[in-house]
Order: sequence, then structure tokens, then C-alpha cells
Amino acid sequence: MQNHLELVQSMTQPKLEASNPWLVGGILRTQLKNVLYNKDLFNEIDKEFTEFGQFCNDVLYQHSVDAELNPPKLIKQDVYGNVIDKLVLGEGWRKEKEYAAKCGIVAMAYESKHGIWNRLLQLLRLQMYQPVSGLFGCPLAMTDGAAYLLKQWLSNPTTQCQETIKLVQQGFENLTSRDPSKFWTSGQWMTEKDGGSDVNNSTTTIAVHQGGNKYKLYGYKWFSSATDSEMTLALARVVPEKKIEDFRKYPLSLFIMRVKKDDGTLNNIKIMTMKDKMGTRQLPTAELLLQGSEAYLISEEGKGVKGISQMLNVTRLYNASSAVGSMNRLYSIVVNYSLKRKAFGKELIEKPAHQTMLTKFNLNVRACSLFYFKVAQLFSKIQNNAATKDDEEMFRILTPLLKLYTAKICMYWMSEGIEALGALGYMENSYIPLMLRDAQVLTIWEGTTNVLCLDFLRALKSSDKKDPLQKLDVYARFHTHIMMTQLSADTQLPETRRSFIPYIAKMTINHNGVVAELSNILQGTVKYSEMRIRDLCFILCESFVGGQLLELISKNGREEDILSFELWVEQMQSYTTTWSITPKAFEVLVKENVIKAKL
Ligand SMILES: Cc1cc2nc3c(=O)[nH]c(=O)nc-3n(C[C@H](O)[C@H](O)[C@H](O)COP(=O)(O)OP(=O)(O)OC[C@H]3O[C@@H](n4cnc5c(N)ncnc54)[C@H](O)[C@@H]3O)c2cc1C
Repeated sequence: MQNHLELVQSMTQPKLEASNPWLVGGILRTQLKNVLYNKDLFNEIDKEFTEFGQFCNDVLYQHSVDAELNPPKLIKQDVYGNVIDKLVLGEGWRKEKEYAAKCGIVAMAYESKHGIWNRLLQLLRLQMYQPVSGLFGCPLAMTDGAAYLLKQWLSNPTTQCQETIKLVQQGFENLTSRDPSKFWTSGQWMTEKDGGSDVNNSTTTIAVHQGGNKYKLYGYKWFSSATDSEMTLALARVVPEKKIEDFRKYPLSLFIMRVKKDDGTLNNIKIMTMKDKMGTRQLPTAELLLQGSEAYLISEEGKGVKGISQMLNVTRLYNASSAVGSMNRLYSIVVNYSLKRKAFGKELIEKPAHQTMLTKFNLNVRACSLFYFKVAQLFSKIQNNAATKDDEEMFRILTPLLKLYTAKICMYWMSEGIEALGALGYMENSYIPLMLRDAQVLTIWEGTTNVLCLDFLRALKSSDKKDPLQKLDVYARFHTHIMMTQLSADTQLPETRRSFIPYIAKMTINHNGVVAELSNILQGTVKYSEMRIRDLCFILCESFVGGQLLELISKNGREEDILSFELWVEQMQSYTTTWSITPKAFEVLVKENVIKAKL
């Protein structure tokens, strides 16, 4: 009996272990090799990234767990009842900040070591960092976005006010520093009580002029995820003091401000409360009351949204990096578990139904990674002044699509991945459930799915009013080029390697269908286009990924490239013009129901 008790107590399930994120799957590594013609440079970076991947697993992961276990706290009062509003941050969070600086997670994008590929390399490293950052990737997204904006501003300042220029210079230097004692993070204060998507209508914060370029901000920022940041960018309406009751008439402007004064006290900011969130609990998200916070105007008056939108491309790329990185990490944990976990007499990896799931998981990580790589590559060229006009237009079109698509796919695979680990994956102290909780926000902040679909449509509309189809043409040409190149290359392939050719036809039908319908939308001949746009965006994303997979065949031609392309096209949604709903369906199924149910 004793032996039996010892046996049952000693039994244990396989450990949940992640592989080195740079090596697992390896698709980003393959793509990087395709892009960097200099093989010595590739080998150097490959080594550096492999070491960094290991560092993520060995060191940063532990701090990220600590950040989850010791979330930030707001202490409202001291023992004597004095209001102190002290934000207390855990050790894990502080360590993540220190390593973010030391590893140059943001800084790398602004250094010159790798010429036009600095930004690409920074983003490739970032996706390894994100899932072990303890959500520190969130303030870093805003930090990088702010650094990008401030850099542009310094080359074309909107004021000659020396105080402003000095603060912007100091901001840029500190946001991009590798020295933890100098390193700053930045907030992005847009969302207010009335919402975050429609800032033009929801912003109630006002800016009262103090002379020169200085203002005082008064308002309520409903979500600030970087409450511990040293600086922030904020939207507010410049309103003459005598016209405050008409504040909504005044357009938004953009401001830079320090969060704390030189003496360490807050810049006339009151931390009202910490947000009680479903996930991202590591993150100090708070509601803030601005009670005359000193700030400097850094956009033209009334052009704040245009100013801050430069940040959004960066923060959306960070969002995608988080989705790609989390999927990659969970995929590796699931594969490793399947290799060791036995059920019904065999390892899970031997079970055909499980193999199907693993293959689909692999395919989706691959797809999102390729999409991410392409947009990162375009951004790298843009940031280093090596982009063509077409590159710029493609980047503008693809960024909202990348963000919305990767966030949704990630959410699905976080759930599937947990299921693949059985009950073990559902246990809080496996630190897997937080991956699902944290992934949900990726579909909300930096633009919800619908808002991004509409942004995509806006991006398509050319600034040249005479030719609304211009940007769509750029996209269509880009994609068609890949397909045509592949079709002509096919004639040189041996018969045995041509199995994928029929799949190009299906992809072409999808691609042409979406492009034709989008062109009708742009010309204003489609009814209910907003009811249709979400489907069109998803089909377009799948078709774009198909093109990227196809391109891999021509570059590498490995069996895995051919198989993944074929499989991808098989699982793509078929383009059909009757996919989306009409207002009638909404009226009958939802609206009448609401009226009947007296909701
Ligand atoms: C954890 C967390 C941290 C955050 N941190 C910050 C921060 O640091 N700084 C900051 O400024 N904000 C922050 N936010 C706020 C976030 O950016 C907003 O919540 C987000 O932009 C969505 O805005 P909303 O909440 O007003 O949703 P809404 O805009 O009200 O959206 C509700 C629903 O309506 C849909 N919808 C909206 N408009 C349309 C339309 N025109 N057509 C069709 N559907 C539409 C949306 O898709 C969504 O499904 C944070 C949010 C969270 C959850």
C-alpha cells in the first residue's frame, strides 16, 4: 500500500515548456535570410536573436510571472488619512522596465547599425519579447510611437519655443535610451469617459493658454495604461477661458507633458482609481483627473488627431507583434506537451485529430508571422527613407488589416491552445490562462475590428479625389505581380512540383472578387458597404497571406512552403457576393426582437 501511495503521489504531467522563440517554426528566420543578402550579417543576427530568444525564456519570463502575481496597486491614503495616491509597482514590472532599456527594445529602431533594416530587426526581436514582457510591451508601444512622432517633429517643429524644443529633445533621447537610469516611457492619453474610438467627439479635456507655447490641461482621462510613465502625449481642445462652455466647438490639438514635476510630485494629476480589468492586470491602467497639468502644444492648433495618428502605425505594429509572439510561444508549448503527454496509450503527437489541430496552429502562426514580416519590412524602409510611394501606400493600407487580423486569429488560438493542454492549461498557476485574457485586449485597443475595417476603407480612398481607386490599384498590382511571377516560374518546375498551381486559381478568384467589390465601394455603387466591409477585410487578409506563402515557394521552394500554401488556400473563406447581411436581416433578427423584448 505504501508503495502505491508513493506511486500516486509521484505521478506528474509533463512540464509546460516553451522553445526558443527564434527557432520554433522558423518562418521569420527564413524570411530574414531571404531579405538579408549578406550571409555574414544574417549569421551574426541569427546568433544574436537565438541568444535573445533564450534570454526571453530564461530571464524575462520569470519577471513577467512576477508582474502578473504582483500587480500594481494604488494606495489612496496614508495611515493618518492624508491623500497620497501612491502607485506601487511590483518587482517584476520594475525589472521588465530595466531590461527593456538594457536590451534596447525601443532604442534599436532608432540606431543606425543595420541601415534600412534597423526597424525590421527591432520588430522581429520585439515579437519574441512581447509574450514575456509582463505587458511592459504596452508602455513600450506608446514609447516607441511617441519617439517616432517626436523625431518627425524635431525635423519639422511647429514652434520655436525653446522650452518645448528642449522637452521634445529630452523626450526623444530618453525614450530611446539604453541606460535604465535615463530611460523614459510615454503614455498616450486619448480615451475619455465618452469613449476611445471617436476621439473627435468624445474628448472633453481642455487646454487653457498660459502664454508662449505653454498650456494647462483640465479633463478626465478614462484610460491611462502608462500611469508610471515619465511623459505623455495628450489630446485636448484649446479653448479661450471665456468660452469654456462651448468647448466642443474647438478642434483637438496635441500636447506633450511631463507626468511628474521636477520635485517628483505629479503634474497636477490626480490618480482617481485603478482599472479593474479582465486581463493586462500587470499594467498600471488608471483613470486620471487633469487639474491644470502643464503641457506644451506640439501640433498645429486643431490638428491634434493628424499629429497623434503618426503614433498609431507604430502601436498597431506592436499589437501585431504581441499577437504573433503569443501565438508562437503557445504553439511551442503545445507541441512540446504533445511530444510527452500520453493519452489512450500513445503520445498526443501520434493522435491524428491532434495532429490536425497542430498543423492548423502551425499554419496560422506562419500566416500571421508572414503578414507581420511584410508590414514590418515596409515600415523599415519608410523609417529609413528608402520607401517608394507604392511602399508607403501599401503600408498605410496593410497596417489596419494586419492589426485586426492578427488580433482575431491570436484570440482564437489562445483558446484552442489552452484546450490542447487540457486542464493543465486552464490552471491559473500554469500562467497559461493569462495569455488568453491578455490577448483579448489586442482586439480592442489601438482600434477595434470594426473601427479598423473602416480605417482601412478610409486608407484606400486616395487623397487624389479624381482617382479614388489609386491605392487599390497599388495593392492589386502588388498582389497580381506575385501570382503572375509564380505562374510563369511554374513552367520551369518539374511535373512533381506543380501540385500547387491549381490553388493559385482559387486565390486569384478570391483576390479579384474582393478587389472588384472594393472598387465598386470606392465608386459609391455598393449598397450597405459598411455591413460588408468586415468580411471583405478578412478575405483580403487571407488572400494577402496566400500571396506571401506563394512568394515563399518561389524564393525557397521547400516542401513545407508548397504544402502550407496549398493548405492555406484550401482553408480560405471562399469569396462570394452573398456573404454579408442586409439591413433587412438586421431589422428582422435584431431590431424587432429588441422592440418585442422591450430591451
Ligand atoms: C486595458 C486597456 C488599456 C487601455 N489603455 C489606454 C491608454 O493608455 N490610452 C488611451 O487613450 N486609451 C486606452 N484604452 C482605451 C481603448 O483605446 C479604447 O477602449 C478603444 O479605442 C475602444 O474604444 P471604446 O472603449 O470607446 O469602444 P467603442 O468605440 O464604444 O466600441 C464599442 C463597439 O462599437 C464598435 N464601433 C465603434 N464605432 C463603430 C462604427 N463607426 N461602426 C461600427 N462599429 C463601431 C466597436 O468595434 C466596438 O465593438 C485602453 C483600453 C483597455 C481595455
